[in-house]
Amino acid sequence: MLQIDKEKLLEELRKLNPKKVGLQFPEGLKSKAIEIADMLDYEVFIYGGNTYGACDVADEELSFCDCLIHFGHAEIPLKFKIPVIFMEVFDDIDLVPPLKKNLDHLEKKGKNIGLTTTVQHIPQLKNAESFLKSSGFNVYIGKGTERIKYDGQVLGCNFSVCTNIEDKVDYFLYIGTGYFHPLGITLNTGKEVFLMDPYIKKIENLEHEKTKLLKKRYAVIEKAKDAEKFGLIVSTRKGQYRMKEALYIKKELENLGKKAYIFLTREISPEELRGFNMDAYVICACPRIAIDDQSRYEKPILTVSEVSLISQTKEYEFDVIGGI
Ligand code: SF4
Repeated sequence: MLQIDKEKLLEELRKLNPKKVGLQFPEGLKSKAIEIADMLDYEVFIYGGNTYGACDVADEELSFCDCLIHFGHAEIPLKFKIPVIFMEVFDDIDLVPPLKKNLDHLEKKGKNIGLTTTVQHIPQLKNAESFLKSSGFNVYIGKGTERIKYDGQVLGCNFSVCTNIEDKVDYFLYIGTGYFHPLGITLNTGKEVFLMDPYIKKIENLEHEKTKLLKKRYAVIEKAKDAEKFGLIVSTRKGQYRMKEALYIKKELENLGKKAYIFLTREISPEELRGFNMDAYVICACPRIAIDDQSRYEKPILTVSEVSLISQTKEYEFDVIGGI
């Protein structure tokens, strides 16, 4: 069950002694917004827009508040207009029973495990590590770049906790749900990755999904080769602002005889882009947008790292944001 540490929240607010407090929730926690607002003895303003990660803090929109509480994500140390309290939300599900159930499978694959997860399971990761060690495995939990708060924590745009230990491990065990993060790990490290869903206690090898994803992405890249006009979409969300990459790509595309235009926007959606009538787009923002949302767009949508495949034959690189 997801846990919001309300005592910690009140304590943090007492320290700041604000009058006006901004609240920001990702989609999955919006249902908690009113409960939290009712609990606080301050003048409260709730950010209503989409929130995708710690890269996406509404400090500009709520700059009239004395502080902002951003729920559900571990901090990325960006510069903010007002003090921001990051209230991580942890899941207290015990990771040992699903590990126990899948131990035989892991033993067949090797003794050296790279263990990784998203922020919600971080407090349980130590227990998982101890259990695996006591079962005879060598467990490695990597440190990340400055974008990453916790050892072992991956983001959809940063797998440095894995790349930093890839030479030591036989494979990675990702604890969580959904394919995006473990696919990012396998494409960033070249190692086999197993996804263990702690809720259904099932383990899955990602090789099949990796092949499927690569097939889809190469088809999109192939289409983009025929494009004449490219829209380079730079996100104005602070932690996704990739103007440097956009300027670099613009030159690269122009060298190939293509036209390239830079667009800035906060919310990236097919509706926002349709009117510009480009032949293809490059998302200079969150890498997930191109990978997860391509089916919503009529035109090819590339990640930053896919652009080089328009003109070169080389290994596929999963797009990452290394620093802050
Ligand atoms: S850029 Fe995308 S993957 Fe990275 S933290 Fe933001 S929402 Fe998550």
